[in-house]
Amino acid sequence: MAIRLVLIGPPGVGKGTQSKLLSELTGARPLSSGLIFRAEIEADTELGQLAKDYIDHGHLVPNGVTIQMMFKRLRQEETRQKGFILDGFPRTVRQAEALDEELDKEQVTLDGVISLQAPLDVIVHRLTGRLGCTKCGEIYHSVNHPPHREGLCDKCDGFLVVRGDDTPEAIRERLVVFEEATAPVLDYYAATGRLMAIDAGRESDEVGAELKQRLNLTCA
Ligand code: AMP
Repeated sequence: MAIRLVLIGPPGVGKGTQSKLLSELTGARPLSSGLIFRAEIEADTELGQLAKDYIDHGHLVPNGVTIQMMFKRLRQEETRQKGFILDGFPRTVRQAEALDEELDKEQVTLDGVISLQAPLDVIVHRLTGRLGCTKCGEIYHSVNHPPHREGLCDKCDGFLVVRGDDTPEAIRERLVVFEEATAPVLDYYAATGRLMAIDAGRESDEVGAELKQRLNLTCA
């Protein structure tokens, strides 16, 4: 049966890593708004050009374009059949409300909303050494999880880069934006009893194991 999950948490908490793992476990489609924006920027599309400035400064891309971009993927047959793991969306209460309206129309519900939490110093440490594969999205860390060959992905040989918004200024801004715009989304879901809090300050495989157990997942 298709599973539908939302992952919420500050930048660097491990949403991308856990989304990948959950997708492998369940067969659900991983939908990362940040990754989609970065692909649009890379392809120099109109949407990418619009989003770039917001992203580089650590600000949120306006709700209207973000919602439209995500709904396009949610409405695809592949998503309907496989379900989804949303990572980075919704990030505002308006986006969360729009998502609820959309799921109502589709007559489906979320199976879980997961709040990934970690202490600020862990988050800042993770973000400052983060490296991402330009080809498959695998995430590394210069100290905690270095690649076997410098600058190259262990899994697909893609080039590893530091994200443009992983600068100290943009990191600070993204953390502020999380507290101001996204923390209220946690209250929104908690109010309807849909929130599951997970300690994501641990090693990613420990976090994954707890998610697997609490969501009652076996395999795809
Ligand atoms: P992420 O990869 O999730 O950290 O997202 C990178 C950046 O993309 C964010 O800092 C925002 O600028 C933008 N972004 C991603 N998701 C959203 C969203 N749901 N709403 C608005 N902006 C977003």
